[in-house]
Amino acid sequence: MNNRLKRILQGIFWILVYLFLTLLPVMVMFLPPRPPGREFIRELSVALGFVGLAMMALQFALTARFKTIKAPYGADVVYQFHRQISILAFVLILIHPILLFVPQIHPISILNIFSPETPWRARFAVTSLLALCGLIVMALWRKPLKIEYTRWRIWHGVLATAAVAFAMLHVLGVNWYINVPWKRLLWAGYSIFFVGLLLYTRVWKPWQLLRTPYRVQEVKPERGGCWSLVLQPDNHAGFDFQPGQFAWITAFSSPFKDAEHPFSFSNAPAGDGRLRFTIKELGDFTRRIKELKPGDVVYVDGPYGAFSIDRHPHAKEFVFIAGGVGITPVVSMLHALAQRNDPRPLLLIYGGRDLESLTLRDEIEELQGRLNLKVVYVLENPPEGWQGEKGYITREVLDRWLLPERRKNQTEIFICGPIPMMNAVEDALARMGFFAGDVHSERFDLV
Ligand SMILES: Cc1cc2nc3c(=O)[nH]c(=O)nc-3n(C[C@H](O)[C@H](O)[C@H](O)COP(=O)(O)OP(=O)(O)OC[C@H]3O[C@@H](n4cnc5c(N)ncnc54)[C@H](O)[C@@H]3O)c2cc1C
Repeated sequence: MNNRLKRILQGIFWILVYLFLTLLPVMVMFLPPRPPGREFIRELSVALGFVGLAMMALQFALTARFKTIKAPYGADVVYQFHRQISILAFVLILIHPILLFVPQIHPISILNIFSPETPWRARFAVTSLLALCGLIVMALWRKPLKIEYTRWRIWHGVLATAAVAFAMLHVLGVNWYINVPWKRLLWAGYSIFFVGLLLYTRVWKPWQLLRTPYRVQEVKPERGGCWSLVLQPDNHAGFDFQPGQFAWITAFSSPFKDAEHPFSFSNAPAGDGRLRFTIKELGDFTRRIKELKPGDVVYVDGPYGAFSIDRHPHAKEFVFIAGGVGITPVVSMLHALAQRNDPRPLLLIYGGRDLESLTLRDEIEELQGRLNLKVVYVLENPPEGWQGEKGYITREVLDRWLLPERRKNQTEIFICGPIPMMNAVEDALARMGFFAGDVHSERFDLV
């Protein structure tokens, strides 16, 4: 079975598991013995609430970085799914009480959690809903609200846990569809699964990272305000990775602090566990990379991601379109192709401000001598007398280099760079007739 088919089947399998777990509480609702019948609107409201809650609880599995779940799709797709499905779950959960208030099954005054008349089950529901509202607002508008990423991540975890935990307490408090022991067992199973996931991500994973530290070997300045950080496993074998993948790095703090940042590997796997990341100085964390000294301890959780030539062994050629520091996973893939003496034609379209600030340019030029590689620089501020491409990577630039025969060939295209560039390039490639399944993107911006 070829790799693509295997990934499609794995992908379908996980979608079916997801659907089953999402719908399980509703299926159980309808299984006998059922409690005495109630109004249709109330049953519908409960069914929507159950589905929404199951979706929320499963979000913890989606973001727990289980490699087997992410493998068929890649981290980018899973995070996008996480984002979109949260909104759907939120809407379903919101409809749940609205359906009860409209025909006045419950008075709206039940929302007043401070009233002595309000039962605890309603207080739990309102608290869960408030946590969910906070979660959604912060997730959708983190940047306009100017919430710093690390602080946002902590609040995201706290609010998500509160939303699901209080919703579970609400279900237990209502105690309607858990009228027999095996139904109670199902909900206990969901709760244990949820707590287990929390323990896995907050305790087990950090503990594993603590046991497998890395030591800084070198910190080297690069063009374009970047630093290359070379790490060596400290008394363990490290891990293997596919060129183009990424890992989460924790430096200057313990892995229990949840202060990790994602970076793509910029080297090729060499079997010795050595890792290199090339990091642009952008914010609080990345500006401190240069402070690391040889021998310092860093924790690395990886590898992750589906942005790799190794997932497309049958490609006849590869095209890489990179902007700025988005070149890092591309250089990792070029190194791997050079190591393997790969003869396939390669095209790199690399956009940047000027020639001097093109990160890892010297390495790319050295690799050109070892690969069947054509490099096209697209410069915003080209030097005097520059004969090459100028400005941004536009449809016109792509039309000049991605000739029609390339569109028919088994060409796999990898895009990584600033988000506006990626959106424009993806759009242009779709209009040019490239098949979406052959275009692979890595966004350096998860939220
Ligand atoms: C899959 C992936 C691969 C990446 N590879 C590279 C790389 O090879 N080289 C490189 O220079 N950069 C890479 N990045 C971007 C890098 O993770 C961010 O620039 C870095 O985390 C910014 O942290 P900061 O505290 O310095 O900046 P801040 O000013 O705090 O953040 C700037 C922006 O970066 C994002 N960000 C910040 N912290 C995190 C975090 N912990 N997790 C996710 N996003 C965060 C947020 O959108 C934030 O608004 C990659 C990102 C992703 C998602």
